Amino acid sequence: MDFGFNLSPSSAVELDKVDTSLFRELCRIEPGARTCIGCGSCSATCTASEHSGMSVRKLLLSLQRGKMRDVEKMLTCCMLCGKCTMVCPRGINTRRIILTVCRLYENVEGRI
Ligand code: SF4
Ligand code: SF4
Repeated sequence: MDFGFNLSPSSAVELDKVDTSLFRELCRIEPGARTCIGCGSCSATCTASEHSGMSVRKLLLSLQRGKMRDVEKMLTCCMLCGKCTMVCPRGINTRRIILTVCRLYENVEGRI
């Protein structure tokens, strides 16, 4: 029977099976990455968000879930304007986090 809609594919992530080494390395260099509360202020302020889906909140979540391709795509959309850093209620230097992730990605070739 056609109901006119389908069930969405599961978005469950088996955390025991994903590679979170990049996120752990990021937290070692930038401990602030662990203090994100996911409030979304950075996403709401982001200049690139509306057209590209860039979001520091989403970037950190994707790193924790091993979604490396999503992270890579977001990195190419950031303009490094720094607006997200100005609004973060936890005082996280989000711009520096993005730059650090970019540097980590330089060494990640072949892992994604
Ligand atoms: S504004 Fe700061 S605390 Fe809020 S989601 Fe973005 S990085 Fe996390
Ligand atoms: S630095 Fe990047 S993520 Fe932050 S507001 Fe600017 S474009 Fe968005």
